[in-house]
Amino acid sequence: MNPFIDSFGRQHTYLRVSVTDACNMRCTYCDPSRTGRFANDRILSMEEILRIVRLFVTRHGITKMRVTGGEPMVRKDILALFQGIAELKASYPLSVGMTTNGTLLSDHLPSLRSLGLDALNISIDSLDRDRFRSITGMDALPQVLEAFRLAKGLEVPTVKANVVIMRGVNDHEIPAFVRYAAEHSLAVRFIEYMPFAQNTWDTGRFLDYRSMKRIAEAEGALIPMAYQPHSVSKDYRIAGTNGMVSFISSVSEHFCGGCNRLRLTADGRLRTCLFALPSMETDLRTLLRSGDGSNEAVADAVRNALRNKWEKHPDPEILAVTQSNVMRAIGG
Ligand code: SAM
Repeated sequence: MNPFIDSFGRQHTYLRVSVTDACNMRCTYCDPSRTGRFANDRILSMEEILRIVRLFVTRHGITKMRVTGGEPMVRKDILALFQGIAELKASYPLSVGMTTNGTLLSDHLPSLRSLGLDALNISIDSLDRDRFRSITGMDALPQVLEAFRLAKGLEVPTVKANVVIMRGVNDHEIPAFVRYAAEHSLAVRFIEYMPFAQNTWDTGRFLDYRSMKRIAEAEGALIPMAYQPHSVSKDYRIAGTNGMVSFISSVSEHFCGGCNRLRLTADGRLRTCLFALPSMETDLRTLLRSGDGSNEAVADAVRNALRNKWEKHPDPEILAVTQSNVMRAIGG
């Protein structure tokens, strides 16, 4: 085993793969205009994605992965990816999660579950149907609530709700989400609104996690849970219930010290940080498709990228100005 370790001694055991930059929603905080989609031949095929996943798992100690997008379920061949992952899981320790908007899940979730899906994060930014539509551009709250029911019925081991909180838009729904978590024994994660290119971030819309926590606490005592290594969230159990709430403070309080993540974009670029500049990306697609796309060449490219990985990402004021990355291509 030849682990991927950066200049600060951080071992990278977690791969997040954006399988498409296409999405059926237009979330205001993500990329409402959806301009500048990748041409089809830029998008990695499932076989190319699987080649990278197999290499990273079998030789470089990746033990956890997440499938994201864009919306991963818009890819017609998504089951082929999970079939390949299931084969790997038979011989290697590997847990696999997916982040989805939940609207296209119902037909495929039983198959995904039987192919070993370990964790599902479903985005849901409002419990009010009209507000949900105005944030996402899609009148889909009933389908998303149904996706939670289905995931629970199929006993997906970990199911979490992702809620991006925007001041003046959905921050007043924090108490309703806490009640929803408590009633449904669910884990709800409140995510700080992050600045990316083409989204509508500004400091007026931003609410830091401490403020979110104060609002949540008014609904019930929050009991801190033990910190999990590499965790990006601060986790709490809602007293007297099986519900959990978490806060993801990417903007107000970074957690780069425990970072173990590599990201593969939909067009095959390796990123060592969610906020990395495009100039810091490594083009694995061209390498894979070239004569020298050997496993060794790919692994060398990853190690080179890790040599230049930031110790921590820049402060939010700088990220807000840089605005050089579209979330939909990176996958969050
Ligand atoms: N389409 C899928 C979904 O809706 O979950 C997966 C892709 S989406 C880019 C992954 C996650 O990133 C979602 O939970 C979404 O809420 C989050 N996200 C997108 N833009 C964000 C932003 N500007 N700040 C914080 N979270 C963001």
